[in-house]
Amino acid sequence: MRTPFVVGNWKLHKNIAESLALVTDLKNQLAAVKGVQVGVAPVFTALHSVAKRLEGTHIATCAQDAYWEATGAYTGEVSAPLIADAGAAWAIVGHSERRQFFGDTSDHVGKKACSVLRAGLGAIVCIGEHLAERDAGRTLAVIDEQLAEAIADVAATKVDLASKLVIAYEPVWAIGTGRTATPAQAQEVHAHIRRRLAEKLGPPIAEAVRIQYGGSVKPSNAEALIAEPDIDGALVGGASLDAADFIAIVKAARTST
Ligand code: PEP
Repeated sequence: MRTPFVVGNWKLHKNIAESLALVTDLKNQLAAVKGVQVGVAPVFTALHSVAKRLEGTHIATCAQDAYWEATGAYTGEVSAPLIADAGAAWAIVGHSERRQFFGDTSDHVGKKACSVLRAGLGAIVCIGEHLAERDAGRTLAVIDEQLAEAIADVAATKVDLASKLVIAYEPVWAIGTGRTATPAQAQEVHAHIRRRLAEKLGPPIAEAVRIQYGGSVKPSNAEALIAEPDIDGALVGGASLDAADFIAIVKAARTST
């Protein structure tokens, strides 16, 4: 039985005061909600303040990215050990916006995932196809390529992948577009990802790893998506900026398992 995991990716939104206001709402309103794991991913400048405010709660602080080198002459980058030092417990890697705007390749994503795991953080590894790839019937092939590179070396980190590795399936055509994969479309890809995880990491780890769906998740569609057997939560962008919407999605995840 996998505990669903719902993470809000705030992208480049909310300063420190706004971030603290939102997490204070979430902290108060989610205190009694059990059976679902929750995380929020603020901008880097708010990471430490948010982590402090969430101390002693069940809400995890997540970074939106992590560079793979720990220290050095890498101006502008933030490494996984520094993210851990700021109080975060997870880092997202491979988000399609990183791939699209900042040149992240699947090879980079693999290095980032390993550095995150080695720093003792959980890694949320994002993969997903573009619309042209789906239309060309290449969805599963693209997923195979991205997943293979992203998790190529994770076993060598020797961390507990069952609890520390999460895959987020985010079809690029559904991110921020209001267009969501149907539960059946998402389930098909999630089941495929789990089969590939079983081949690469072994069936016990594949059964335990949470696979989140991301792409225009809203209160109105969350329950149906997460009710699918291989959809274990959500990575939520736009709807996570509003406390009421995000809380509704978290509650939907809890009730649909
Ligand atoms: C995301 O940023 O990961 C995402 C899924 O965004 P949205 O929910 O806005 O589509």
